[in-house]
Amino acid sequence: MQLMWFRTDLRVQDNSALAAAMTSGPTVALYLISPGQWQAHDDAPCKVDFWLRNLKALAAELNTLNVPLLIRYADDWAAAPQVISEVCQQLQVGTVQVNEEYGVHESRRDQAVAELLDSLQVNFTSHLDQIFFKPGSVLTKSGTYFQVYSQFRKVCYQRLHTALPSVIATPKAQAALSISSDAIPEQVAGFAEASATLRQLWPAGEAEAQRRMADFAAEQIDFYQSARDIPAKPGTSQLSAYLAAGVISPRQCLHAALAANQGEFDSGNAGVVTWINELLWREFYKHILVGYPRVSMHRAFRAETEALAWRNAPDELKAWQEARTGFPIIDAAMRQLLETGWMHNRLRMIVAMFLTKNLLIDWREGERFFMRHLIDGDLAANNGGWQWSSSTGTDSAPYFRIFNPLSQSQKFDPDGRFIRQWLPELVGLNKSNIHNPAGMGGLFGIADYPAPIVDLSKSRTRALAAFKSLPHFAGTEAP
Ligand code: FAD
Repeated sequence: MQLMWFRTDLRVQDNSALAAAMTSGPTVALYLISPGQWQAHDDAPCKVDFWLRNLKALAAELNTLNVPLLIRYADDWAAAPQVISEVCQQLQVGTVQVNEEYGVHESRRDQAVAELLDSLQVNFTSHLDQIFFKPGSVLTKSGTYFQVYSQFRKVCYQRLHTALPSVIATPKAQAALSISSDAIPEQVAGFAEASATLRQLWPAGEAEAQRRMADFAAEQIDFYQSARDIPAKPGTSQLSAYLAAGVISPRQCLHAALAANQGEFDSGNAGVVTWINELLWREFYKHILVGYPRVSMHRAFRAETEALAWRNAPDELKAWQEARTGFPIIDAAMRQLLETGWMHNRLRMIVAMFLTKNLLIDWREGERFFMRHLIDGDLAANNGGWQWSSSTGTDSAPYFRIFNPLSQSQKFDPDGRFIRQWLPELVGLNKSNIHNPAGMGGLFGIADYPAPIVDLSKSRTRALAAFKSLPHFAGTEAP
């Protein structure tokens, strides 16, 4: 008997481990509910809700293949080896098949599971599935992990040219087994159910993920390069939640994008090329997680920034979290996050820069808050994005390049459409005042909109001084 242990790969199509299991013999599937671990990892309630909804859809797909899906509780990863070995003994499993996961805790968990299973003469086989290339297989000439994205991407493109990872055929149904599937819980204690509105925004299932991919490839990908930075436009794929939960694979995405570009991936349509570059950013940060495991343990990639004098400013942190900073683009973005579980990429960069530079609050606070609210929360991408914005990461923004939220707002939401959507209290302002209501003067202040919590120019100078006071940056100047 084969046991397919599902984790962040909630799909039957193009699933390496599932295909390997079903090719090898009769297969039973398993999923672990791990509330203690999820809490420890700050997984958002809306993400857990999304997992549970996708599990239901997965159970239905597996049912058509005659693969029963078992649900077991293992409060945290430390409990996983015991729970899995019990299932193996009950069902006389010969091999457990999994797709690799790359966080430090997940790697240790898999090692512990493999060791216990080995002592019981059960095989544990893991597969490359979540990304294109195995971490450790894309290295610099001197054999180290890349730290610069553009160099990493170049090697990835060379590899893709010579050996394009292909999509794996969906397994055929097996003969029915006399094992029944378990019910999928509606909710897990400690994680509130998502609102009906949020559920509507993120329907579960492979069919939905495929529909989004197909629509994006047909309608939007050509305009991606110019539309991707405009938060008021549906210019990006909104596939991140599906990719993070593994409801769609990056190989499926790559092939769909290539099909929209006559098979070319580094020439032809600029939109397609730019979008594939984003899939490679995703890839890059996962490789970084393995190559530099300190980043998944809340440590800065650039050790020299650990000494930075972050401010302890709980009221300002709270204002940022609650969308009350007095900067419309920041507050509108934070409302989008709180209400939808998602935030546009340009806005993620703007709000992250504002928190870590203008408020000089530790990036770890922002990273944690994002994780607790994002439906697409992903350790590698979230950590990469936060460390990029705070200039503590690999290939990150130089510390002196600090976004001005007002000019970012004017540039990327020129008519204030996005701001008006999320801040109805500002709906009456014209397109020149909407970015900075405080600039209209006291008489015209908006009764129910807060004054800015920080002076942009002074806080910029404060951030530059904080970085320059680190021995590593001493004497450096903004160009
Ligand atoms: P598209 O523009 O359509 O891109 C396609 C896919 O490429 C995305 O679904 C995503 O899987 C990947 N991708 C795109 N941009 C990036 C990037 N910069 N880094 C890594 N992968 C990328 N992305 C997450 O998936 N989870 C996170 O927790 C996350 N946290 C972030 C935190 C910060 C501070 C920042 C600046 C970025 C973060 N991102 C994260 C990256 C990016 O913002 C989202 O992937 C993107 O907004 C998702 O929208 P989309 O699916 O429409 O993206």
